[in-house]
Amino acid sequence: MPDKETTSFMRSLCMGEIEEDVLLPFPEVPAKDVETLRQVITSLGQLLGPREKEFRAWDVAGELPAPFLEELKQFGLFGMVVPEEFGGMGFGSTAYSRALQEVSRYDGSVAATIGAHQSIGMRGLLLYGTEAQKRRWFPKLATGELIAAFCLTEPGAGSDAAGVKTTAVREGDAYLLNGSKLWITNGGLAGFFTVFAKTGKAEERGKLTAFVVTRDMPGVSTGPHEDKMGLRASSTAAVFLDNVRVPLDHVLGEEGKGFKVAMRILNNGRSGLGGGCVGGMKRMIELATGQAKGRIQFGRPISDFGLIKQKVGHMVVETYAAESAVAMVAGLTDQGYQDYAVEAAISKVFATEALWRTTDEALQIAGGNGFMREYPYERAMRDCRIFRIWEGTNEILRLFIALTAMNDVGAQLADLATSLKGVLADPIKGFGVLSDYALRRAGLATNVGRSKGAFTRLHPVLRDAAEVFEEATRDLATAADRILRKHGRRIVDMQFATRRLADIMIDLFVLACVLARVDGSVRRLGAEETAREREILEVFAGQVSHRVKSNFSKIDDNDDELIKSLADNAFELERFGWDNLA
Ligand SMILES: Cc1cc2nc3c(=O)[nH]c(=O)nc-3n(C[C@H](O)[C@H](O)[C@H](O)COP(=O)(O)OP(=O)(O)OC[C@H]3O[C@@H](n4cnc5c(N)ncnc54)[C@H](O)[C@@H]3O)c2cc1C
Repeated sequence: MPDKETTSFMRSLCMGEIEEDVLLPFPEVPAKDVETLRQVITSLGQLLGPREKEFRAWDVAGELPAPFLEELKQFGLFGMVVPEEFGGMGFGSTAYSRALQEVSRYDGSVAATIGAHQSIGMRGLLLYGTEAQKRRWFPKLATGELIAAFCLTEPGAGSDAAGVKTTAVREGDAYLLNGSKLWITNGGLAGFFTVFAKTGKAEERGKLTAFVVTRDMPGVSTGPHEDKMGLRASSTAAVFLDNVRVPLDHVLGEEGKGFKVAMRILNNGRSGLGGGCVGGMKRMIELATGQAKGRIQFGRPISDFGLIKQKVGHMVVETYAAESAVAMVAGLTDQGYQDYAVEAAISKVFATEALWRTTDEALQIAGGNGFMREYPYERAMRDCRIFRIWEGTNEILRLFIALTAMNDVGAQLADLATSLKGVLADPIKGFGVLSDYALRRAGLATNVGRSKGAFTRLHPVLRDAAEVFEEATRDLATAADRILRKHGRRIVDMQFATRRLADIMIDLFVLACVLARVDGSVRRLGAEETAREREILEVFAGQVSHRVKSNFSKIDDNDDELIKSLADNAFELERFGWDNLA
């Protein structure tokens, strides 16, 4: 079995190795959570199902009314991830993600409120809290008496979290916190804030520390409810900290380790956001199919037309693929894998972009109705736009995905360089390492002599798609190697190349998840019963193969410099440089 502390499917894949034991069998909802989850899903249907008109009105008003929030609390929806001993449901990531999927089928603002509370707001307490801290806050967080918020962003610190200016200065038996946090989800409702501030002596203050701050502390205040494009009924507000005295036992994790705390919270909570995306996509398919069957044009329902079928078919493939990746990441989290940050980032990028495309196509199928407020499409479109921006923008996550891979490959190349130097001093040792490397490269090209170059456990009916994956894996490992050799240390600034590698990695991880999921279905139900799922796999594998080949070919043959120069010209002019009115 793989070492759960150190193994990452994608990091191994970048070296050309397929760690299939990480992915197989495809994870399911743990037996202990199944019954409670069913009850939650039924209750959600009763609570949220009949409220479409109210959700629309609350979107216009820009607020969830207090009595409705009380109902959410009564249903226990704020306590899904709180351990049972503290009054919650004790859901793991898989069950929690599935429950959020259900909430987001009804309304994005409700999903954001419940999601921000549990995916990020209280997750630091779940991951780093001491027994005493948990005993103190979990019971109230489980009932929703305390709503939680995650406070990292500031006016000068968005993507670059190192730019945080909020300070926490040690003063006797407490820290004095000063600063302001921007656009905090649940900011206006929360009583419990996970706040990131810089600690240490003034001249060397640079390290973040995570603190629990509660609303009853003197000096805590929040700004007005932001007027937003989407998720309008969810609360987004600034949080101000003015000489807030925070006792020492409010630190989450270790002093100075707050950056790691923040990143682990975001990684661990990603399957909540992913579940929200999948729920939104399923809803779009329900709406679009009903709409297309009922709309008659040219004497036929528009569902008869090829161009409409093409949209719906792709929506199905994308939803299956996104759900596979999100469920896989939730499964890795539940199984105790520690190194899944790249996989979690991939699931976020893929699911949020697939949600956007799916929502856009559903709106297109609805035609003019899609543009009208009376229909749910435009709200869905506005609501899901933020997903590509928050919890790490998709640009920053793509850089993270590819640079992590490149770092690993770079470390191997550095080893190689060192051993090459060693060839002169110690020819035998030096040639040993060199020949290992040469063998690996030759193995990548031919697949000969590679122990983990192919899937061995997948059902034989999936062989064709598995071969697409294996071939693309060789392209990935070669691409990482080639990009790094081409750009060396300058790779950090070569974002066009980095993006290409990230896109190859995203496609490959999602394809691996789809393969694993279809494998699970075939084993459970047999080949015949899973014909549809195998069709989805065939289509998705074909798309991935095409995209990977295209990205691979552009490593050496691209128009990157032309595009950059056009952008630089536009930056200089600060306008479009041409007009056909001579
Ligand atoms: C509705 C809403 C709710 C939110 N909720 C929370 C919350 O609960 N808690 C919280 O802490 N924050 C929250 N945020 C903040 C959110 O996480 C940030 O908006 C996000 O991290 C991006 O930061 P920014 O907006 O400052 O964009 P910037 O960092 O200014 O980025 C602007 C653009 O530049 C790109 N960019 C930046 N750096 C690079 C680079 N090095 N290379 C290439 N491209 C780059 C970005 O990808 C983006 O496209 C929320 C925001 C909104 C709008």
